[in-house]
Amino acid sequence: MAYACPYCKDGESRVLDSRSLDSGFTIRRRRECISCSRRFTTYERVEDIPLWVTKKGGRREIFCRDKLLTGIMKACEKRPIAHTKMSAIVDEIERKLRDQSEPEVSSMTIGQMVMDHLLGLDTVAYVRFASVYREFKDVGEILDCLEEIGAKER
Ligand SMILES: [Zn+2]
Repeated sequence: MAYACPYCKDGESRVLDSRSLDSGFTIRRRRECISCSRRFTTYERVEDIPLWVTKKGGRREIFCRDKLLTGIMKACEKRPIAHTKMSAIVDEIERKLRDQSEPEVSSMTIGQMVMDHLLGLDTVAYVRFASVYREFKDVGEILDCLEEIGAKER
């Protein structure tokens, strides 16, 4: 979303600083106009701000929390993990992503964040998620992944 400069009405500005307010639902950003270099502040409601996810190969899509939740639910299928725990993971990841000043994030980064959460939660869910996210080609790669977990737990 372009925030027009209130001075020269140019649409382009760069973000100098971002801060979340009211538990992350509003984001205050200090911006600097690219044309006239004057500074101004915007208050953005979280649901109004599209967060872009860059996929492998450079494709972009709007961040969708339902999609992320579905991915986690698949990985956690039949595991003793409460649904509220899964949506808490999504909440935390979304809040972290929205807290940063970049309106774009790579799907790799999101995948890694999910894996960090699952690692401490459930090994099976972790490996399932990792197998989708890393696109394991064979059993050998899954075993490598399990070895990595073992190394982290030691
Ligand atoms: Zn300006």
